[in-house]
Amino acid sequence: MRVVFLGPPGAGKGTQAKKLAARENIPQISTGDIIRDAIRSGSDLGREFKGYSERGELVPDELVVRLVATRLDAPDCSHGFILDGFPRTVPQAKALEQLLDERRQPLTGVVVFDVPDTEVVARLSGRRSCTKCGRIYHVVFDPPSSGSLCPSTGGACELMHRADDKPEVISERLRVYREQTAPLIAFYQAQGKLSQIDGSKSQSEVESALGRIVA
Ligand code: AMP
Repeated sequence: MRVVFLGPPGAGKGTQAKKLAARENIPQISTGDIIRDAIRSGSDLGREFKGYSERGELVPDELVVRLVATRLDAPDCSHGFILDGFPRTVPQAKALEQLLDERRQPLTGVVVFDVPDTEVVARLSGRRSCTKCGRIYHVVFDPPSSGSLCPSTGGACELMHRADDKPEVISERLRVYREQTAPLIAFYQAQGKLSQIDGSKSQSEVESALGRIVA
């Protein structure tokens, strides 16, 4: 299985990608996570990424394509992968096509998660994530049992509100999605690879729908 998850921020791509990756024993490749790790490491590249990410803008195509090319060469990708949050522009999609052609590993499908903007704003503004295990909570829909600490790491780790999940940045991320990423829906539809999922449904309903699509 070699799939791309498309959809606006907060559509549930990451949550579903983690579950599917665990079930299929293949990696979830989240460019957002790779970029956040680079920012946390304080490297030169991380410092470059920080500004883009905090403003809700995309990092330049050539940088993110290089990250993905390196990641796809890791041995754990040889039996498949889920690309979560990549590609996000038409040039990235074309670069991915070339990378996968070279590796003779064409995509087996692309899933777009549809969620209305009002739902995205409600989800992201309440989203909190564990800096250690990556588990995601929501202050209203899925509150952690131990206040601002993550129960799944034994309460050892603080939950954080991502800088780019603040209201002023969310609207910019939605604008960027509509302008730069939404054109990929037509791009993959033309290739006959696209399936759509109603991402506003419950996590378990989305999981079942996804299972029927990618099975
Ligand atoms: P995410 O967690 O997927 O919403 O990504 C967080 C941030 O990382 C985005 O707002 C961008 O600044 C950057 N980013 C993640 N994936 C990409 C990508 N494919 N292309 C460009 N920037 C990206």
